[in-house]
Amino acid sequence: MNTIEQTNAHIMQTYGRSDVVLDNGTGATIHDAGGKTFIDFGSGIGTASLGYCNQAWADAVCEQVRKIQHTSNLFYHEPQAKLAEKLCAMTGYEKMFFGNSGAEANECAIKLARKYSFDKYGKGRATIITLVNSFHGRTIATLSATGQDVFHNYFFPFVGDFRYAKANDIADLHEKLDDTVCAIMIEYVQGEGGVMALEQGFVDEIRRICDEKDILMIADEVQTGIGRTGKLLAGEHYGVQADVTTCAKGIGGGLPIGVCLANKKCADVLVKGTHGSTFGGNPVVCAGAVKVLEILDTPGVMEDIAKKAEWIRAELAKCSEVEAVTGLGFMIGITLKTKKAPDVLKACLDQGLLVLTAKDRVRLLPPLTITQAELEEGTKILKEVLEA
Ligand SMILES: *Cc1c(COP(=O)(O)O)cnc(C)c1O
Repeated sequence: MNTIEQTNAHIMQTYGRSDVVLDNGTGATIHDAGGKTFIDFGSGIGTASLGYCNQAWADAVCEQVRKIQHTSNLFYHEPQAKLAEKLCAMTGYEKMFFGNSGAEANECAIKLARKYSFDKYGKGRATIITLVNSFHGRTIATLSATGQDVFHNYFFPFVGDFRYAKANDIADLHEKLDDTVCAIMIEYVQGEGGVMALEQGFVDEIRRICDEKDILMIADEVQTGIGRTGKLLAGEHYGVQADVTTCAKGIGGGLPIGVCLANKKCADVLVKGTHGSTFGGNPVVCAGAVKVLEILDTPGVMEDIAKKAEWIRAELAKCSEVEAVTGLGFMIGITLKTKKAPDVLKACLDQGLLVLTAKDRVRLLPPLTITQAELEEGTKILKEVLEA
């Protein structure tokens, strides 16, 4: 059996995969097992943030693998400490918890918010408001947090006390608020929900309400975080710091990690015995993540990401088939006039370009370090497909 047959025979069929067996790559260029070359505008759903096999990242990971590949969180190790210190310095957050995925980072945020409220106010303040069309993960609690009916099937009962407010609708948000609410959880740019950025006034109102009522503002920056939007955190575009921010996807540079960051107000809510993860903060993953942050912290790098993002956004906006270009920075949604997103994905694949979709949009999450040459090559293919 070949790889596709083996996969389909033995792995639960939970994904809509393209018939491509990816084998090796460098930067934003990746090759399949048959030697066909693709420009990758998806970077493994925003995970390979430095592209494939970035030399400095690969060296840091390989060096750590040869020292200790893992130890438990019952001991200390340098890569975890270094990553935490660097992340606090770069984001202004006070403390963090390491897990292995976006869903786990959000689980941590949900637990933290409920305990923050319980510690101060006792029972009866467990409600978390999230947004319609949000996406927060695939565990039972994060599915419950996800404000999309399509995800609320089969697995009943879901976790209670989540309420969904309409994005950018301040009146609806106020309607959902009462004395039982302990947190409001948002994505600044809804990713899986269709690459839609929140409006400034809506974000400001959430921040205001949270301060006024001692409710925690949770920003799910699993997709928007760590340079994706041309800022380290997307909250910077809004001039807002959430009380709790979760990151995952791009921070590991392609290795599994989830982080729940807490500001001073709630940094010490989760204490000994209240949360944990066997693999969370793994030394190899942390060594790679430190390299990701060091590279993003190099002068000019973030500006370069923002500039490249502006370039492709302007190019796409000129395209006759493009109705609108949504999102922020290198988190790009393309609203199509006549074509269907899955057809565009398939045609791009044939022409040597990997793209993603989100709802009825084409979605792009290029590696942050993509070269201008790779960006232009991929954009040329995409425009040809869109205008065909
Ligand atoms: C991808 C994503 C998640 C889930 O992350 P996993 O690593 O798949 O658990 C959660 N929230 C947002 C906003 C995401 O984009």
